[in-house]
Amino acid sequence: MNANARQVATYLQKSKCTVILTGAGMSTESGIPDFRSENGLWHGRDPMTIATPEALETDYETFFNFYLARLEALDEASPHKGHQILAKWEENGFTHHVATQNVDGFHRQAGQQHISELHGSIQAIRCHDCNMKASDEKFRSKGACSACGGRLRPDIVLFGEMLPQQEWERSIEMISEAELVLVIGTSLQVAPVSQLPNLTPGQKVWINQEAPEREEWFDLTIQGKAGEILTEIDQMLSQPES
Ligand code: NAD
Ligand code: ZN
Repeated sequence: MNANARQVATYLQKSKCTVILTGAGMSTESGIPDFRSENGLWHGRDPMTIATPEALETDYETFFNFYLARLEALDEASPHKGHQILAKWEENGFTHHVATQNVDGFHRQAGQQHISELHGSIQAIRCHDCNMKASDEKFRSKGACSACGGRLRPDIVLFGEMLPQQEWERSIEMISEAELVLVIGTSLQVAPVSQLPNLTPGQKVWINQEAPEREEWFDLTIQGKAGEILTEIDQMLSQPES
C-alpha cells in the first residue's frame, strides 16, 4: 500500500472543493510526448523558437509542419485511464474543476465537464489575423482564411501571447477557494500557470514522474506515472481503511 496515495484519498474524501491542475505529463501515457522529452516531434529543434507568433509570421512553413505533426499524432491517441478517473471523480463529487495546460482535449473527451483550457485547444482553428474560425481540414490542407486570406493557426496560446481571460480568471477563482489542489504531470516551469498552486489556501499535492524541483511548495509529493498513481488513489477511495 502506498501511504501517500492513501493520504490523497483521505484528502479527497474530506475536501469540499478540489481542483486539478494538469500539464503535458498527464498525456504521455496516451503516447503524446511532453515538451522536455527527446521524442521525435520537435526534430531536435527548440519548440520555443517555433511556438511563437514571430515564428508563425516569419516562417509559416515550419510553424505549420510542427502543428500539423501534433494534430496528426492526436489522431492516433486517446485519453487514458487517468483521464477517465478524473472525469469519474468529478461525476462522483470528489473534484470540482480541472485547469489544464494541455491543448489535446483529452480531459473533455474523457467526459470532464468543468475545465479551463488555459493554453487553448489545438483542434480549434482560427485566423491569426482576423480571428475568424476555420475548419480543421482547411488548416491541414494549408488553406488560408476565407474572410481575409490570413494564415490559419490552432487556437492555442503561443509563447508571448495572453492566456484566455475567462479561463484564467475561473482557474484563479477555483484555486483560491480550493481546500485541495492536485498538480499532475507538469514541470511548473511556464508562467503564469506555475504560480497557480501558490494561490490556494488549501492542501497541495504534486504527482509527477520526475522528482519535483519545487517540492517545498507542496504538502505531499508522489513520484510516478499519473495514470498508475490515479488508479491507486481511486482504488483506495473505494476501499475502507485497513
Ligand atoms: P513539461 O514537459 O515541462 O513537464 C511535464 C512534466 O511531466 C515533467 O516534469 C515530467 O517528468 C512529467 N511527466 C512525464 N510523464 C509523466 C507521467 N506519465 N506521469 C506524471 N508525470 C509525468 O510540460 P508542462 O509543464 O505541461 O509545460 C507547460 C507548458 O509549456 C505547456 O502546456 C505548453 O503550453 C508550454 N510549452 C509549449 C511548447 C510548445 O511546443 N508549444 C513547448 C514547451 C512548453
Ligand atoms: Zn482572417
